[in-house]
Amino acid sequence: ALAAAEAASLAPAFVADGRRIAVLLNVAAPEDLANLDPAICDGIGLVRTEFLFETSHGLPDEETQYRVYRDILVWAQGKPVTIRTLDAGGDKPIAGVTVDGESNPFLGLRGIRLSLARPEVFRVQLRALCRAAVHGTLKVMLPMVAVPSEFDRANEMLGAEFAALHAKGIACVRPPLGIMVEIPAAALRAVDFAAAFYSIGSNDLTQYTMAAARDIGAVADLNDTGNPAVLALIEATVEAGLKRGVEVSLCGDAAADTNLTRALLATGLTTLSVSPIAVARLKAAIAKVDA
Ligand code: PEP
Ligand code: MG
Repeated sequence: ALAAAEAASLAPAFVADGRRIAVLLNVAAPEDLANLDPAICDGIGLVRTEFLFETSHGLPDEETQYRVYRDILVWAQGKPVTIRTLDAGGDKPIAGVTVDGESNPFLGLRGIRLSLARPEVFRVQLRALCRAAVHGTLKVMLPMVAVPSEFDRANEMLGAEFAALHAKGIACVRPPLGIMVEIPAAALRAVDFAAAFYSIGSNDLTQYTMAAARDIGAVADLNDTGNPAVLALIEATVEAGLKRGVEVSLCGDAAADTNLTRALLATGLTTLSVSPIAVARLKAAIAKVDA
């Protein structure tokens, strides 16, 4: 039985209608990949980089970040790897970076807002990413983007850091830059962003759509990605991707909820990203969804 389960998780995932569904991994720390065969996935859909900043010895320097990103790319053996820039704030406070005492941290200075407010921190990460990109197929994405100007400013900074490294003769590649779609404003107007891809963060998209925090048990029933309003925003994002010819994936926890697999695939999504432990179950659920 174990051999059969392993074989199933190594095989690519298809829906009964023949549509190939890419199954990617979410990674919260490099240890998540230890002893894992890259053959179980089609790549990595989300690397949360907060772990690098959650230490007691200050912010990580460029070299430290470069090595961590490089090792993940090497693990993936050429498969695409999407690394998210620092998503501090909200449910992820980080000493020395996030602002204390906000009345509502979920609506405050977090994600890309914080990176743009702290360019000296952000630029270090962008340089490390450009250097790591030499070692595989790297894509970079920005968390908590609300308006196109945030993407434009970050994209400009990425270009500047790449150019500076290149001018110094340091090996580097400018990775494609995409956005996480996790704020309703971005889902409704995804088409306005010059992003290279969209990755739906259903955890935040659900809480902002339903006005039900992801970390308050008393409103857990309302915090439902299967709600038609949330699914409509996911579908709007998929349509924007088709219109602009860019890839759309979903990397929130809903991707691993097999009760939602049918509804998510019905929005037109063809790429889901889940934690390694959820891969085999998700592939089995995908195979059971009928056309
Ligand atoms: C999300 O919001 O769905 C997401 C993937 O990001 P995080 O859970 O890290 O906020
Ligand atoms: Mg999020």
